[in-house]
Amino acid sequence: MKRSYVPLPRSHFLKVACECGNVQEVFSHATTHVTCRVCGKTLAEPSGGKIRLYGEVIEVLD
Ligand SMILES: [Zn+2]
Repeated sequence: MKRSYVPLPRSHFLKVACECGNVQEVFSHATTHVTCRVCGKTLAEPSGGKIRLYGEVIEVLD
């Protein structure tokens, strides 16, 4: 049995709601700007290994 190596054990996906009503998944350790795919607003940006969120987190996915 193979085990996959996870370099960031506490990373996860977040479901973030934008002001426009769009909900999309954002990686908790994203290294690039994440913009809303509907209105183009910034939802998250890198901040020292984690991300700074601008939308509302509605769910945390493992
Ligand atoms: Zn939006």
